This record gives sequence, structure tokens and C-alpha cells, in this order.
Amino acid sequence: MAKTMDNLKNAKRIVVKVGTSSLTYETGKTNIRRIKKLVEVLSDLKNSGMQVVLVTSGAIGVGVGKLGLAEKPHDTPGRQAAATVGQCELMFMYDKLFSEYGHTIGQLLITRSDIENPERKENLINAFDKLFEYGAIPVINENDAVAVEEIVFGDNDNLSAIVARLTHADGLVILTDIDGLFSSNPKTDEDAVLIPVVEEITDEIEALAGGAGSSRGTGGMITKLHAAKTAGEAGIPTVIINGTNPEDIYRIIEGRQVGTFFCAKK
Ligand code: GLU
Repeated sequence: MAKTMDNLKNAKRIVVKVGTSSLTYETGKTNIRRIKKLVEVLSDLKNSGMQVVLVTSGAIGVGVGKLGLAEKPHDTPGRQAAATVGQCELMFMYDKLFSEYGHTIGQLLITRSDIENPERKENLINAFDKLFEYGAIPVINENDAVAVEEIVFGDNDNLSAIVARLTHADGLVILTDIDGLFSSNPKTDEDAVLIPVVEEITDEIEALAGGAGSSRGTGGMITKLHAAKTAGEAGIPTVIINGTNPEDIYRIIEGRQVGTFFCAKK
């Protein structure tokens, strides 16, 4: 096990994905304490010489809270509108908090068509490269305001794996509302145990992922497994950890066991 965890030891560039359930309370309002902690850890890692990329969800969830809506809109225009409001609030918070630690962020809002079109993909890569060169921290979300069905990634787990590939990251860390992948659903089965390492994402492993996650976000464990697969096929390991403790990212970098580690191919 130590050998596989070592894969992320001394990583130079990591992509960290944080989900809506980690960024907001059930009230729909932002979890300020959590966001502050996350920004502090990422700023500190940046200070240590590492390059960090943040893929953040929460635009729709935070927008719903800010607009005072009772629930996430069921129609696309409703979700688009909520996202425009929430994305502002999110970036305001990130900009304010990263600035407190002397860091500069740059926002990239991406749709699937940006990746599928070779020219736009190239432009995107150039923008990432320049941001790294300038020493800024890229903060990414799906462009939910325009991401209607045909061009939607759908979930930021998938998006984070694509970003990890585009930026040639050494690792992908997914923060969520559960400790990692379990042998069965820990909410309903008290015998469920955390799986520390997944060598290969087989059908049996996918079968453990169960249903959807929280009502505020979009993905669930299955979209995280798909993300780990996408990243792994490009030689990038993924770790799924509980977003309650962003400090756990330090442990990952130290090569210690936390959450579920998904080995990369090759
Ligand atoms: N892009 C969506 C948002 O910011 C989240 C998608 C997801 O939850 O994976 O609200």
C-alpha cells in the first residue's frame, strides 16, 4: 500500500476538486469555515512550491441559497440563472480568501465543447500554461450559465479529471461528503468498511458506488469512480477524501493513507 500512496509524494502539480456538499450547508448557504480551511491549505501548498488547480462546484447550490429559492430549480434556465449568481459569490469568496494569503486566482469556466474542439482546447491549455507561468491559481467550474444539455459535462468530477489531464497534473484529489469508497453504503450498513486502495476500477468496484450523492450537488460516488478512471488512464492517480478535513491533503502529499487511493495505469 505504501508504494501506491507514494505515487503522490512530492507531487509538483495537483488538481483539487471540491463538491457542493463540502462548500455549503444544508441551508444552501456557504460553509465559510470549510472554504477558509481549504483556501488556507491550498495557499500553504502553493507556498511550498507546489502548483495547485482548484475545480470548484457550488455555483448552482450557492446561487439557490443567495436567491432564497426553496430548492434547486428543475429547469435548465433556472439552474443557469442560479449558477450566474452563485459563481459570483464563490469567486468573490475565493478571491478574497486567497488574496489574504497573497495569492492570485484566475477563473476558467469550461464547457464540454471547449474540450472537444481542438482549437479551443489548445487555447485553454495555453491559458492554463500562462496562469502557471504567472504563478496564479486556476479556479475552474463548468460554465453552467451556457452549459445546456448538448454541451454539458454534467458533473465536476468528470470535469476535474479532464482538467487533470489537460494540465498534466501529478494527482487528482476529490473532496466529498464521505471518507472515500466503502465496501457498501455506510449510511445504511454499519459493517461498511473504507477501501483504502483500488488497484483497478472493475465492474465489481463500480457496483459498490451505489446511487446519487446529496441533493445540492450533481455527482455521487459513481461519477467519482469514472473521474478516477479517466485520470488513471492518463497515468494520474486519484484520491477521494472527506472534504471536512482539507488538511488531509497534506497527508496525501506525505504519502500517508487517507481516503481511497485509486492507482493510475502505467
Ligand atoms: N457545476 C455545478 C455547480 O457549480 C456543479 C456540478 C457538480 O455538482 O458536479 O453548481
